[in-house]
Formats: sequence, structure tokens, C-alpha cells
Amino acid sequence: MKLQNKIAVITGGNSGIGLATAHEFKQQGARVIIIGRNPEAVAAAATEVGGETLGLVADVSKVADLEAAFRVIQEKYGRVDVLFANAGIAKFAPLAEVSEAFFVEQVAINVKGAYFTAQKALPLLAEGASVIFTSSTVSHFGMPGSSVYSLTKAALINLAKTLAVELAGKKIRVNVVSPGPIATPIFGKMGLPEAAVQELGGAILAQVPLARFGEASEIAKAVTYLASADAAYVTGTELLVDGGMAQA
Ligand code: NAD
Repeated sequence: MKLQNKIAVITGGNSGIGLATAHEFKQQGARVIIIGRNPEAVAAAATEVGGETLGLVADVSKVADLEAAFRVIQEKYGRVDVLFANAGIAKFAPLAEVSEAFFVEQVAINVKGAYFTAQKALPLLAEGASVIFTSSTVSHFGMPGSSVYSLTKAALINLAKTLAVELAGKKIRVNVVSPGPIATPIFGKMGLPEAAVQELGGAILAQVPLARFGEASEIAKAVTYLASADAAYVTGTELLVDGGMAQA
């Protein structure tokens, strides 16, 4: 029970890595709040995780949605001990094909969304709170077609370093988890035909020293470490959970 009685908020908590982390946090004794965009998926995930788990609907790219969600959290719980800013999308296209809308959408969700999630949570963050952003192993190397996605994820590493220093006075720790390829629904949402997804998956797999995709539960365990008192002296850092991909 590493998170006994902690109030833990997870954006993108209704699917993939966020949902696996919601299960893990709950098992470790936390009271979990899931934030997601799709009302049905959020409700289903909250029921699946069970217990007191609360589902809130918000589009993280809309600051007003985040304000409304954290207002509910303030009224119901009064504080946040763990903030997992994890919501994100991944779309790949070569430089020549990237439109303004394609660029703006990913920056709005992955960067602006994570940024204002932290800002709107800040008044509720308790002394000793832990904030974790989801970056990606792709922050560390060039992957053709991933220019927009990769820059959004790389931005979060500096955001964590900056906030770690800025919020240290309140004893708030800020870290990053950087997954490698993890088998989640994100690959099906990339807007690519199934054959292209299979091809991308094969190309990625060939670059992973441990020669397999990771499981969402493996990221959840790393996030739980960063969220817990086990990481009490860890701030401003990045935990790569990528099967060695960034080192190959
Ligand atoms: P997923 O698609 O299963 O989950 C993404 C979650 O984010 C969903 O719950 C979705 O509803 C939510 N979301 C997306 N846009 C949102 C918005 N505007 N407002 C609110 N919620 C929104 O994918 P996942 O693989 O679990 O991804 C989770 C995070 O992990 C993402 O930030 C992703 O970039 C990152 N990541 C994933 C992998 C991987 O291989 N799966 C690798 C590295 C990093």
C-alpha cells in the first residue's frame, strides 16, 4: 500500500497506460480520479476500476474544462497528492505533409493540455505532492514521421525540470515517465491504415533491445514508484521504461 489514502488524478485515465495506472494506484490504496474526453469511456473505466473511483469529463486542450474538473475535485476532496498528466495523442506524418491543424492539435493536447493540467491542479497540490508527466522514448532520437509528436513529448521533459525547481519550495516533486512502445489503443487512433500500423509496429520492434512491446502495467508500476514516498528524493528526472530503445 504505497499510496494509502492519497488523492490521485490521472488524465487520459480511461484507456491504455492511464487506465492501467488507475488500477495500480487503486491497489496501492489511493482514491483515484480519472479525467478523460469521452463520457462513456470515462464512466466505464471508473466502474471497471471500482471502489470510490470518480470519472470526470474534460478535454485537456480546453483550459475551461480543466478549471471545471479541478473545481469538482476541490469540492469533493480538497487536495491532490498525485497528479499523473498523461493524456495524449500520437499522429505521424512526414514534414512535407504536416498541416497547421495537424501541428496545432497535437501541441494543444500534448503540451498545452499537460501544462494547464499542472497549472489548474497547482492550488490543490498538497505539500509533498508528486506530479508525473508522460513523455516518450522518442524524445531522445529521431524517428521519421514523428516530428510533431516527438517535439511535444520532448517539451515535457524540460517542463518537468523547470517545475521541479519552481515548485520545490512547496515540496512538490515533478518527474517524467518515458514509455517505449506499449501495446495500447493509441496505435489504432493514429489515422493510419491497419497495414501501416503493422509495418510501423514491426519497424519499432526491431529497435527495441528487449525485443518486445511493453505492457501498460509496466508503466503503471514505474509511475507508482515516482508517485510514492519511495521516490521522496527524486525530482526533475526522467524514468525511461522503454526496453532499452533510447540506448540502441
Ligand atoms: P491511449 O490512446 O490508450 O490513451 C490516451 C488517453 O488520453 C485516452 O484516455 C484519451 O481519451 C486521452 N486523451 C486524448 N486526448 C485527450 C484530450 N484532449 N482530453 C482528455 N483526454 C484525452 O494511449 P496510451 O498509449 O495509453 O497513451 C498515454 C500516454 O502515453 C500518451 O501521452 C502517449 O503519448 C504516451 N505514450 C504512449 C506510448 C505507447 O507506445 N503507447 C509510448 C510513449 C508515450
